[in-house]
Amino acid sequence: MTTTESTLMDEWNTLPWRKLERSVFKLQQRIYQASNRGDIKTVHRLQRLLLNSWAAKLLAVRKVTQDNQGKKTAGIDGIKSLTPSQRLTLSQNLKLDGKARPVRRVWIPKPGQPNEQRALGIPVMKERALQRLVQSALEPEWEARFEPNSYGFRPGRSCHDAIEAIFMAIRYKPKYVLDADLEKCFDRIEHQELLRKVKTLPQIRRQLKAWLQAGVIDQGQWFRTESGTIQGSPLSPLLANIAIHGIEEAVAKKYTRNPRRGFYLPIIVRYADDLVAVHDDLNIIREVQELIEMQLKPMGLRLKPEKTRITHTLKSENGPPGFDFLGFNIRQYPVGKTHSGKSPQGNLLGFKTIIKPAKSSIRRQARRLKTEIAERRDAGQQVLIKALRPVITGWGRYYSTVVSKRTFNYLDWVLCSILLAWAFRRHTGKNKGWIIRKYWSRTPGKLWTFQTPGGKHILPEHSQTPIRRHLKVIGKRSIYDGDWVYWSARLGRCPDVPARVSKLLQNQRGTCWECGLYFRDGDLMEVDHIIPRASGGRDAFHNWQLLHRHCHDRKTAEDRTAAGTNDNRQMIEEPCDAKVSSTVLKPSGGSDPVA
Ligand SMILES: [Zn+2]
Repeated sequence: MTTTESTLMDEWNTLPWRKLERSVFKLQQRIYQASNRGDIKTVHRLQRLLLNSWAAKLLAVRKVTQDNQGKKTAGIDGIKSLTPSQRLTLSQNLKLDGKARPVRRVWIPKPGQPNEQRALGIPVMKERALQRLVQSALEPEWEARFEPNSYGFRPGRSCHDAIEAIFMAIRYKPKYVLDADLEKCFDRIEHQELLRKVKTLPQIRRQLKAWLQAGVIDQGQWFRTESGTIQGSPLSPLLANIAIHGIEEAVAKKYTRNPRRGFYLPIIVRYADDLVAVHDDLNIIREVQELIEMQLKPMGLRLKPEKTRITHTLKSENGPPGFDFLGFNIRQYPVGKTHSGKSPQGNLLGFKTIIKPAKSSIRRQARRLKTEIAERRDAGQQVLIKALRPVITGWGRYYSTVVSKRTFNYLDWVLCSILLAWAFRRHTGKNKGWIIRKYWSRTPGKLWTFQTPGGKHILPEHSQTPIRRHLKVIGKRSIYDGDWVYWSARLGRCPDVPARVSKLLQNQRGTCWECGLYFRDGDLMEVDHIIPRASGGRDAFHNWQLLHRHCHDRKTAEDRTAAGTNDNRQMIEEPCDAKVSSTVLKPSGGSDPVA
C-alpha cells in the first residue's frame, strides 16, 4: 500500500460518520413530518437540500461500496469495488444529471432449480450510489403516505407483521378471503403512469425517467426497457410499492357510507406483490377484487388469474378452507367448547385459528436438507454440520412465531433419516450400532444428537427453536418518526434475527458500540471480537459485540495497525460468522425464508 493511498484511506475512515448520519437522518425526519402534514412544498425543498448535501452523498456511496453484501458483481463498466480514494471522488461527482447508463444483465440459476435461470440486472457503481441517494430522499416522503397494511420492502416491517395482521382480522369471525398475486409486477409497471404517480421534483423525475428507459445489455447487445421498474436497483422495491399504493384508500372510500349496522371495512393486507382481502360477506370480496383490478389497470398491472382465488377461512368453498400467504398456512378449524377460543365478550367461538408452515414450504425445506447432504456425500461430519446449521436455524426462526412444533418434529425426523443414510453409506463394512455411535452421541438429559466426538460441533434441531408470538408493528408507524427505543426493541425481537445477535442487541440497548448510533432495520450487523482472536481474544459472549458492518471494517483495520501488521495479505481475516443481512428484502411469496 502506498502512502498516498493510505492517507486517503484514513481520510475516508476518519470522516465524521456519526455526525453525517445524524444530519441526514434529521433531514429525512423533516421530510417525513412535512409529508405527514401534506406540505408538499416543504417536502420538495428539503429533498432538494438532501440531494445536494455532501453528507447524504457520502452515505450513499458508503452504502453501495461497503454495506452491500454479495453485490460483488460488476456493471457494464467492469468495476466491482472501489478504493477509499475512489469512493471520495465518486461522492464528489454524485449529481443528478438526467443521464443513465444501461444495466448489465446476468443470468443466475434459480435457488433449488439449477436448470432454470433468473435474470439479474446490475447497474454500474455510480448509478447504484445515485439511486441510493434518490431513495434516501423519496423514502421518507412515501413512508408517511404508505398504507398501514402494506408490509413488503418497507423499513421496520416484515412478513411476520403481515401474518399477525391477518390473524387479527379473522380471529373472532370466520371470513371470506381473496388470495391474489400480481402478475410480474416488477416487469409490467407503465413508466409514464409511474412517473405521474411519483409526482416529484423535476430533477428527480428526469433522472427516474432516464433510469427507467436506460435499457439492458445482455451479452453485448442493447435491449430497450418498455416497462417495469429499474432493474437491480435499490430504488425498485420502493417504486413498485408506489405503483401499487392506494388499494386500501380506494376500499375505504368506496365503503365509508355503508348504512348497515356492524359493517366493517374489508381488510387488505399486502406484502409487495402478494395480497389478501378479508371480509365476512362474499359479495363484498368479489367487489373488492373488481376494485383492485380497476385500481391496478392503468399501471399495467393485473392479478394473476391462476393464482387468484376466493376461499373461506373455515368452510370448504372452492376447495379446502384456508389459504397460504408468504409461506404460512392460515386456516380455522371447528372445535368443541373445551378448545374453543372466546370472543372479547366472552362468548364461545366454536373454532380455532391456526397458522402454521405451509405444506409447500415444508416440502421445500425437506428438499433443501436432502440436497445439502447429497452435495456433501464425502465431506467430513464437521463440514456437513456447518453447512446444515444455517439452513435449520434460519427456517426455524422464520416459523418461530406460529404453530410450528409438529412441523419442526416432522422435519427433524426427515433430517434424521437422511443423515442415517448418509452415515451408513460411508461405512459399508461396519455394523449399524458402531456407525451410529460414531456420529451420534447422547448428552446427559438429551436424546441422541448428531455431533462430532467430544461434542465440539453439534447439529441443531428444528424443534429447539422456541416458539414466540410476534408483536405486529403499530398502525402507520414508520422508522422516520425517530422513536429509536421502539424501533431498536423491535429489531431485537425480530424473528429473523439469530438468538445471539438478539441477546447482544439487548445488551447494547440497540446501539452500535463503535459509532454509538442505533441500529436501523436494513443495517448490516456483524458480531465482532472485542479483543481480536489473533491477539488471544476468546470466542465467548463477554468478548462479543455487535457492530455495523462499516464500523466493523474500520475497527478491524485499526486492530491490524495496533498489532503492527499493516499488510492486508499477511493478516488473518477475523472470522465474522454472524452476518445478519437486511430483513427487508425478502423474496416475495416467502419462497426462500432462509435467504
Ligand atoms: Zn456503527
